[in-house]
Amino acid sequence: MGALDSVIAASVPLVPKALVSVFAKPYVAGETLQDQLRVIQDLNAQGFMVASGILGEFVTRREESEQAVREYQQCLDEIAARKLDSNIHTKPTHLGLKLDKEFCYQNMRRILEQAKLSGNFMRMDMEDSPCIDDTLELYYRLREDFDNVGVVIQARVRRSLADVRKLAAAKANVRLCKGVYIEPREIAYTDFRIIQENYTLLLEELLSAGCYVGIATHDELLVWEACRLIDRLDLKPHQYEFQMLHGVEPQLRRIVRAQGHRLRVAVPFGPNWYPYSIRRLRKNPAIAGYVFRAMFQGTIFKA
Ligand SMILES: Cc1cc2nc3c(=O)[nH]c(=O)nc-3n(C[C@H](O)[C@H](O)[C@H](O)COP(=O)(O)OP(=O)(O)OC[C@H]3O[C@@H](n4cnc5c(N)ncnc54)[C@H](O)[C@@H]3O)c2cc1C
Repeated sequence: MGALDSVIAASVPLVPKALVSVFAKPYVAGETLQDQLRVIQDLNAQGFMVASGILGEFVTRREESEQAVREYQQCLDEIAARKLDSNIHTKPTHLGLKLDKEFCYQNMRRILEQAKLSGNFMRMDMEDSPCIDDTLELYYRLREDFDNVGVVIQARVRRSLADVRKLAAAKANVRLCKGVYIEPREIAYTDFRIIQENYTLLLEELLSAGCYVGIATHDELLVWEACRLIDRLDLKPHQYEFQMLHGVEPQLRRIVRAQGHRLRVAVPFGPNWYPYSIRRLRKNPAIAGYVFRAMFQGTIFKA
């Protein structure tokens, strides 16, 4: 990130909430389950699978996690009733990881049991590095009773090769991403090229071991590397999937789909859209810069 981009990213919280909501639109389905179901239906009609996520993280009260469990259960019910093609993804800290690990485990179990009723699947997102050990521990524990659960590995994190080797031995269903959290250098690679190289290395380890991988990236070089590996290993489309975020690189998403690969769009929804949108704007200073210009020129409010 350049110096100007860093300044823009750091200033993002100064943007008025009403303005953030304008730019949040492409990234989130809306506030309600009905909004989410409409977006799933639309993406399914375009040939994309969906991963539904309810916005929320690092909760401080047990009731917030309990409510999230109920909302995920309702979401799973509606997906099944409408025969939509969407699984779900959850953040461990939304389900109480930082409050009480056992409470979080029980919450995950309740969602997985509900998912199992309709043959659906839940992926546990990976959050910042202090959550990695606990999240993997929960994953292995849940795998003892459930085969409809998956986990995430972050290519920027230095320990990921060791984690991947263990997950490969367990034939885990893994989403591979670069990792969105800014981590200290002791924990994570900071060089963009090393992160790209590590992504390819981890992907090769997982695919060669016969793991089902969610290849989550909008980086066209990595999409190209993945296609090269898929071809070399002679994998069939049901053995992996590409994954992208709602509102990001829709053109690349269509290109990948047109090449015959399956692609899942991760779509978040819920009233807690504000912190998520701030993260998206920070991640993409080009959009944030546009927001700032619009703010000072007043063009957004005139539109
Ligand atoms: C389906 C999915 C699930 C994910 N789950 C997790 C998770 O559980 N844990 C985790 O730490 N990270 C997760 N991520 C985020 C991921 O780690 C990266 O931060 C993100 O995908 C950007 O990396 P990239 O590989 O797309 O490459 P980049 O080089 O960062 O991006 C490539 C291009 O896409 C654009 N772009 C990428 N991301 C965004 C964005 N958010 N907003 C606007 N433009 C963007 C960039 O501007 C650039 O042009 C997930 C990503 C996806 C696609």
